[in-house]
Amino acid sequence: MNDFLNHKAFIDLNEPQKEAVKTLQGPLLVLSGAGTGKTRVLTARLANLLYSKTTKPWNILAVTFTNKAAKEMRTRLENLIGPSANSVWLGTFHSIAARILRENAELVGLTSNYTIITPDDQVRLLKQIMLDYDIDTKKFTPKAMSNLIAGWKDKGQKPEEVDNSSNDYFANGRAISIYKTYQLRLKTLNSADFGDLLLYNLNIFSDHPDVLTQYHSKLSYFLVDEYQDTNVIQYLWLRLLAEKSKNICCVGDDDQSIYGWRGAQVGNILKFEKDYPSATVIKLEENYRSTGRILEAANSVISNNKERLGKNLKTSSEQGEKIDLISVWDGLEEARKTSVEIENLFSNGLRHDQMAVLVRAGHQTRQFEERFVDIGIPYKVIGAKFYERLEIRDALAYLRVVQQPNDDLALERIINVPKRGIGTSTTSMIHSYARKKDISFFLATEELLMTDELRPNVKKTLRDLINQFIEWNRDSKEISHTDLTLKVLEESGYLFHWQNDKSIEGEGRLENLKELINAMSGFENLQGFLEHISLVMDGDSQAEAGEVSLMTLHAAKGLEFDVVFLPGWEEGLFPSQRSIDELGLAGLEEERRLAYVGITRARKRLFITFAANRQIHGLWQGSIPSRFISELPKQNLNENIEGNLGADASSYSQIEFDDSRNNISYGPGYFRAKQNKINGIDLYRAPKTQNEAFKSTAVFDNGQRVFHQKFGMGKVISSEGDKLNIFFDKAGEKRVISNFVKLIE
Ligand code: ATP
Ligand code: MG
Repeated sequence: MNDFLNHKAFIDLNEPQKEAVKTLQGPLLVLSGAGTGKTRVLTARLANLLYSKTTKPWNILAVTFTNKAAKEMRTRLENLIGPSANSVWLGTFHSIAARILRENAELVGLTSNYTIITPDDQVRLLKQIMLDYDIDTKKFTPKAMSNLIAGWKDKGQKPEEVDNSSNDYFANGRAISIYKTYQLRLKTLNSADFGDLLLYNLNIFSDHPDVLTQYHSKLSYFLVDEYQDTNVIQYLWLRLLAEKSKNICCVGDDDQSIYGWRGAQVGNILKFEKDYPSATVIKLEENYRSTGRILEAANSVISNNKERLGKNLKTSSEQGEKIDLISVWDGLEEARKTSVEIENLFSNGLRHDQMAVLVRAGHQTRQFEERFVDIGIPYKVIGAKFYERLEIRDALAYLRVVQQPNDDLALERIINVPKRGIGTSTTSMIHSYARKKDISFFLATEELLMTDELRPNVKKTLRDLINQFIEWNRDSKEISHTDLTLKVLEESGYLFHWQNDKSIEGEGRLENLKELINAMSGFENLQGFLEHISLVMDGDSQAEAGEVSLMTLHAAKGLEFDVVFLPGWEEGLFPSQRSIDELGLAGLEEERRLAYVGITRARKRLFITFAANRQIHGLWQGSIPSRFISELPKQNLNENIEGNLGADASSYSQIEFDDSRNNISYGPGYFRAKQNKINGIDLYRAPKTQNEAFKSTAVFDNGQRVFHQKFGMGKVISSEGDKLNIFFDKAGEKRVISNFVKLIE
């Protein structure tokens, strides 16, 4: 007896939806337009699998696009089936892959407490490596290199699998080699970046078929939301996991594929039936989200795309109000007019959290934020990555070193934060020593502390810091992770540093640190929390009741709001000139799908604005209305156009814009090889291979005359490995590292 079929969550569905929820065995594809209930069907089907006792919760793997969506699905599932919902493997591709990697880390040379490095660490590490390669990092930026690597990883390519031709144009043909070095460095750091998570999973599955077999017996039902945005590696990963049971249900909409620039392949969804010839395919046509007019606008815009399966959505909801199309003079006026509309709606009883401003490029949020602050509209920027805040990154760096002393990137970041008088010459020296000996920064510091290489005051500071870390590490086994965090932040002087900061930001930063500790309390231990931070907090913060959401169109996928504002509908900005330049027609069609996603987020009201002038990179430019405006059905528009601003969008403007929200700022722990030579001794250039490192270490005999950059001339008394006891003419007997000593011929 399957009670779910009598459950309200089932009864309320329409016929094709019911059909999908009842189809529990074999491959199933639900390919349908926006707001037709795909996510709802996926959740109901999950519940049905458990209600009907078809399988156990821990045999189910469900993938959502964001962690927020996973959380929502889990809550709904919990309401339907109770706490056993917690045993379902439910999360994003990244979070599930991180778990599988943790279970098998040693198979790829990591340990189970490996760290997932954040994008800014990734860029810092790449910068170090690129400087070692003598690459001009102004011409070939580390950020671009990290994108290149991410692209290869998204295609499932290890360094040795990358096609040589894709190497030619970047970093003087050394990109693949940099990729290789980067992977080696990550391994010595016991770290993985985001792209590695799935790549390592794939390597494990292909190199260890027994492990894959284990997962085949563990996981036998698969559910995937937003399937149109899976990339090559996600696709391969799913195929491998589901190849045995073939109980895989994917839902998606080809018209909403908006991550092509990140390697998403809309083709994955289109070839589902080829991959699984016995697949059941169900189409849903009724949209339950939006009013008739909003839906007509969405249908009308997307019908201009050539590359699509083609489907029309219908709704039984009322036609609703017309779409407001508003022209403004510039971005300031756009923010002002938008805020006026928000205030009107609010005074008519609509909650702020039912309104959203969806922008094409991250930097567009700034003017709205400023305006909202000025007039007191509560708002939240969704997608401002939690860990990208300076104070959060610093605090996490401390915790990462406590958790794993060999986390070099984290230690380098905070070694002089707050300021302790440890300058770049010291860090360069430690770094160079670490690289030469192929040991971690932490160990190198410990070793150097046994010598006289460091100035006495620096030595004392570093010794204290190292001892603190050792003590915090001990504490971490005894006290709760929240107490530990507070202790670390206090004893390191980090809290005091911000308490003493009199800028407006200082206070906000303390608040954020408090929020960090609050957020931690929901986790069992530090490791769990750190993993959560690097995966889950990633762009997933939720608007609280009463806050207007500000976010990019990309981040809005799957969400819905009563009222949606779509600003900046101008050629160059939207559609993005860069997309068109880089991908031509395909780029334009992806932009149009983005417009379709934006329009279909709205339930009741939609406002579209465009400005006559935009300030781009500090320069004012005249702008032309987006061609998408001319694709909206006129009869559904309430046009509020001033002067001749509503001219037809028939030509392109050549606006350059920058939609990267990742303005990487280098932390104080970051150091560059500015002063890489002291007295002819190359302090910075790291050895390319371990062998080279050994070769460059000269062997000193007792009695030899040497020169040390700090202590001057002296004579070797004895040596032990690379540590020498030298009697210096002026400084007396000292213990130093052979690398910092030059032989006097
Ligand atoms: P998107 O393509 O944007 O991800 P979707 O296809 O996943 O959309 P859902 O988010 O599942 O659509 O559903 C859209 C809205 O319609 C939700 O508010 C949902 O609760 C509602 N809905 C879906 N099916 C029904 C139904 N049979 N009866 C009433 N409301 C429904
Ligand atoms: Mg959905």
